[in-house]
Amino acid sequence: MSELNPFKIAQAQLAEAAKIMDLDPAVHELLRWPLREFHVTMPVRMDDGSVKIFHGFRVQYNDARGPTKGGLRFHPDETIDTVRALAAWMTWKTAVVDIPLGGGKGGVVCNPKEMSETELERLSRAYIRAIGHYIGEETDVPAPDVYTTPQIMAWMMDEYSVIRGYNVPGVITGKPLPLGGSAGRGDATARGGMYTVREAGKLLGIDLDQATVAIQGYGNAGQFAHKLIAEMFGSKVVAVSDSRGGIYCTDGLDYEKVMAWKKEKGTVVTYKCCDDCKQVTNEELLELDVDVLVPAALENQIGDWNAGNIKAKIVAELANGPTTPAGDEILHKNGVYVIPDFLCNAGGVTVSYFEQVQNAYDFYWAVDEVYTRLDRKMTAAFHAVHEAAQKYKVHNRMGAYIVSVARVAEAMRLRGWV
Ligand code: GLU
Repeated sequence: MSELNPFKIAQAQLAEAAKIMDLDPAVHELLRWPLREFHVTMPVRMDDGSVKIFHGFRVQYNDARGPTKGGLRFHPDETIDTVRALAAWMTWKTAVVDIPLGGGKGGVVCNPKEMSETELERLSRAYIRAIGHYIGEETDVPAPDVYTTPQIMAWMMDEYSVIRGYNVPGVITGKPLPLGGSAGRGDATARGGMYTVREAGKLLGIDLDQATVAIQGYGNAGQFAHKLIAEMFGSKVVAVSDSRGGIYCTDGLDYEKVMAWKKEKGTVVTYKCCDDCKQVTNEELLELDVDVLVPAALENQIGDWNAGNIKAKIVAELANGPTTPAGDEILHKNGVYVIPDFLCNAGGVTVSYFEQVQNAYDFYWAVDEVYTRLDRKMTAAFHAVHEAAQKYKVHNRMGAYIVSVARVAEAMRLRGWV
């Protein structure tokens, strides 16, 4: 099986882009590593009175284009290398949508599903006490990601404001609306992805109102993708899944019903709308005969072991890092149109940037204004990537790398770093 360490994958992707672009070796070497990273150890009082020790990371990958920006994950399998990879991909993500930010990421090794609300609050505040001196609205701005929520952002913003002694909404994005969140941030990752799916559909001549869709992952991105692809295009979502498995119904799955089920039962896997509705594994879901496949879960889902079986015409990567480099080659060879992760899921950070702008001006926009600006950013990025891929005769992920690396390299050169 091919390499599955996400950071090694991120470095290998960069190396391929560097070769195609004939990148200056010093520029390449500087981009291969995070500029800074923090490893923190945090004691947290649990509800039963015991103290548990947690480990966390924050990686500030590159800030040539602006403050480092990127989410914070709470996950039992988190490692420094997953966070490094995600921080590198954030650097390419902010560059591809051309917003004045760099890339960063954070992670805490924990299982939020086994923690109470009060334990999560104490852990969130402990994390900010540990890294608070190294983040800030002009240096490094976290946001939600896997298993972190607007409520967690609120606790973190509050803890940071206590440390600073005044209210600092701009230190973190993805906040609840009453605390300076942006309208439209909740579904921004999925919505941004859907704008790119719309453009891909036009380009490939696929009628999205006739299309069938499978979605892997039913967190923030997956759930909103279900809703939006049905609402915006009238496509039929025939399969969805979460970490416990999936469901498949050729008649289509109603997003309101599945979302309500997930909320109540904690999983989609027990949902059954009719006799035709059957359970599928996450692996089977990826290989279903659908027009659009939306990986919206975790890394390394499509690789040399299954890429040849993917039947979808469009793979819209709302997850970070779902496809390995070997998987990419196979999909490309088979004519599958991949909308690569750091393009497809850039809507989240784009609206995070809008949130920062609104916090700085203390002036808030209507949701329509957010959608219009998001659409403009995503559509421009989609076409820039498509054109680069055509020009260099490479797959779309390489096209995206070429666009982003050139932008970050130019900023580093102008600063006189290289
Ligand atoms: N966690 C999201 C991502 O991976 C959003 C990051 C942000 O808003 O800063 O893109």
